[in-house]
Amino acid sequence: AVAVLRLGHRPGRDERMTTHVGLTARALGADRVWFPDNAGQSLETVEDITDRFGGPFAVELTDSPQGVIGDWEGRVVHLTMYGERVQDVEDEIRKAHRSEGDESGGEPILIVVGAEKVPFDVYEAADWNVGVTNQPHSEVAGLAVFLDRLFEGRELEREWADADRRVVPMETGKRVESEDDG
Ligand code: SAM
Repeated sequence: AVAVLRLGHRPGRDERMTTHVGLTARALGADRVWFPDNAGQSLETVEDITDRFGGPFAVELTDSPQGVIGDWEGRVVHLTMYGERVQDVEDEIRKAHRSEGDESGGEPILIVVGAEKVPFDVYEAADWNVGVTNQPHSEVAGLAVFLDRLFEGRELEREWADADRRVVPMETGKRVESEDDG
């Protein structure tokens, strides 16, 4: 299992960013995302996309993001520009994810991304603090690159269950089939 935790959410200002953390987690192979409990609007958007484009993918609010980290029975990866270089630690993280633990074949991984300044406790609670470059950029970009490294591209082949609609890839143009069209 791979879950994503979004720490911090400034209503209004962070609405799209928090939503995009959820959509990126879903599209690139994570199983679930937690948002802070003031991000109900982002939760609704991600649930709506999951209803239309398929799952499984879970979205939940939490009033205690740090509690989610404390209760997590697996490994914790905190994405931060101050962390170890992803290219230096990805093998170790993949190995833990694949070889230990639960019935899905590996140790569950919780990926934590911030919004504003992240409390130092989170750096200490993490098994790995990981930088996708040591340059400041975005939680959405960091999450996307990290998930693709973790799954080594296999997430791109994922099949979606219970989708109402499916995009038919094309060289030019836009085609979306609804479930009724087969
Ligand atoms: N300035 C804040 C701090 O010092 O904690 C971070 C703000 S940044 C816009 C929001 C989030 O993007 C961070 O918490 C981190 O999860 C992610 N992020 C930004 N740059 C990153 C990088 N180079 N590697 C990994 N994650 C990054």
